Amino acid sequence: MGEGRTRTYRDEQGRAGRRGRARFVWLGGAWWEVRVVPRGRLPKDYGQCLPDRRRLEVRQGLTTRLRLDTALHEGLHACRPELAEEAVEVTASELAELVLLLFPEIEGTDR
Ligand SMILES: [Zn+2]
Repeated sequence: MGEGRTRTYRDEQGRAGRRGRARFVWLGGAWWEVRVVPRGRLPKDYGQCLPDRRRLEVRQGLTTRLRLDTALHEGLHACRPELAEEAVEVTASELAELVLLLFPEIEGTDR
C-alpha cells in the first residue's frame, strides 16, 4: 500500500475522514465517497461502484465477511477500472479470505 493511499481526507474545516455522513477514501488516484445504503437501494447487489460520481456504495446489514468482500470488490473497481468483473470478483473474495485468516477478530464484529 503506497503512502498516497493512506492519506486522510480533510474537508474545509479540517475534519478528517468524514464530511457530514459521508466518508471518503483515496483509491486509484482520486477521492471516493463511501456510503452504506439501505437494502432497498441495492436490492440485488451487495454493493456498487459509481465511477462517474466517484462513489462506492455498500448495502446495510451485511455480515462482516460479506461487507469485507464487498468493500474489497468495489474498491478494486475504483482502483483498477480496467479489470474484468470476474477478476475483481475472484480477487476480492481471495483477499477477503486472507484478511480473515490473519485477522480472525474481524469476524466477531457482526452487528
Ligand atoms: Zn463488480
